[in-house]
Amino acid sequence: MTAPWSLTIAEALTALEHGSLSAVELTRALLQRIEAVDPGIRAYLAVDGDGALAQAAAADARRRGGQARPLEGIPLGIKDVISTRGVTTTCGSRLLANYTPVYDATVITRLRDAGAIMLGKLNCDEFAMGSSTEHSAFAVTRNPWNPERVPGGSSGGSAAAVAAGLALGTLGTDTGGSIRQPAALCGVTGLKPTYGRVSRYGLVAFASSLDQIGPMAWTARDCGLLLAAIAGHDPHDGTSATVATADYAAALVGDVRGLRIGVPREFFVAGMQPAVEAAVRTAIEVLRDAGATVSEVSLPHSRYALPVYYLIAPAEASANLARYDGVRFGVRGAEPGYWAALEATRGTGFGAEVRRRIMLGTYALSAGYYDAYYRRAQQVRTLIRRDYERVFADVDVLAAPTTPSVAFRIGEHQHDPLAMYLEDVCTLPANLAGIPGLVVPCGQHDGLPIGLQLLGRPFDEATLLRVGDAYQRVTDWHAHRPALA
Ligand code: GLN
Repeated sequence: MTAPWSLTIAEALTALEHGSLSAVELTRALLQRIEAVDPGIRAYLAVDGDGALAQAAAADARRRGGQARPLEGIPLGIKDVISTRGVTTTCGSRLLANYTPVYDATVITRLRDAGAIMLGKLNCDEFAMGSSTEHSAFAVTRNPWNPERVPGGSSGGSAAAVAAGLALGTLGTDTGGSIRQPAALCGVTGLKPTYGRVSRYGLVAFASSLDQIGPMAWTARDCGLLLAAIAGHDPHDGTSATVATADYAAALVGDVRGLRIGVPREFFVAGMQPAVEAAVRTAIEVLRDAGATVSEVSLPHSRYALPVYYLIAPAEASANLARYDGVRFGVRGAEPGYWAALEATRGTGFGAEVRRRIMLGTYALSAGYYDAYYRRAQQVRTLIRRDYERVFADVDVLAAPTTPSVAFRIGEHQHDPLAMYLEDVCTLPANLAGIPGLVVPCGQHDGLPIGLQLLGRPFDEATLLRVGDAYQRVTDWHAHRPALA
């Protein structure tokens, strides 16, 4: 029999329904796997074994009583920027090392209400700022395909946990690519929903006009199951949309005939690894063979996405992170007096990358520079968004690379923030435009995964999932599992 930890969510649900597996057995298998394998991966920052087993027992009882909910008994891991009642939520920061929320984020409440089991909290770059998970204050997460390589970031723990069989699915967050880039580098499927599709109540804010929570798992089908549980309006989050959710499972018809796919030429950036481009182009041919029409399109303002993002995101971060003063939040500095204590809290609690972002953002917002930088960036952001409105009049989805290269070496970009930022060239535009993006594994190079990025119209996650699922019906990249020592 296949090991329970290696099942997809859909497979596990079938086994649970048939009674060939119980939620307790499944959860125990995952906890054992975490114990055996995670010391070499470091995906988890906190594991709630007792809590998970208690939830599993309750799930089994509910199923026996004929009251199983959509995700009854499915063990998941959660990125550590999402509040979980009674379980530490550190954001990968020393500043919040001891922070335990008193309430659950809406996505957690919804997953619990759907019957899911919470295994624990997953490593990430500090406050979700980074592309490698090396900026975590606590651990460097390793890529399950090759421990010398990064898993991507900032949701590196969430991607690595799926790839290593340490959770059947996870939640990540994506402000500039943090679900899609690690999904690509770890060879799993990840979905950044439309801005506003998923409630952010209880998400620790990084850049509020960009942040979205989304699912990661092996397949598009599994991501659809998780999205169905977490999507929809939330009165606690004024930015969550009132647009109706779709029936994401029903959308997976396995057919892309007649679908119009646009291939944005600007995404094949200079310096891209030829193997990445080749795998992505081959994947697009697979979709063409399945009956989609493919045409090249242009998104002329794409090259401004990187500078625009690195003004807007730090500006919003500098405002959001002002709350960590050591009084309400954060480890309090020992120095006497408010200002001295504040300086100690922020000077020692935040890591170098977070301090860099706060300084960049504060500068961009400061009197005299606001118009030149922040306002300008917002204006260019509008031009980027219009590029997408224009192309989506003619095509249904866009297909493109996710990253310029496969997973880089741990330490490779350590002293070069700009090289790290360049990781995001293909993912930032979707956040600036507010549109959804799905990444599915589509190849490998040097034993390291490559991801195909599919972008869609606002609130049209259903079509992205349909295309991703159709692709996964005729390919098996999503079925490749890393051989762990
Ligand atoms: N890598 C990008 C950054 O560092 C995106 C991060 C994210 O999406 N959270 O800002």
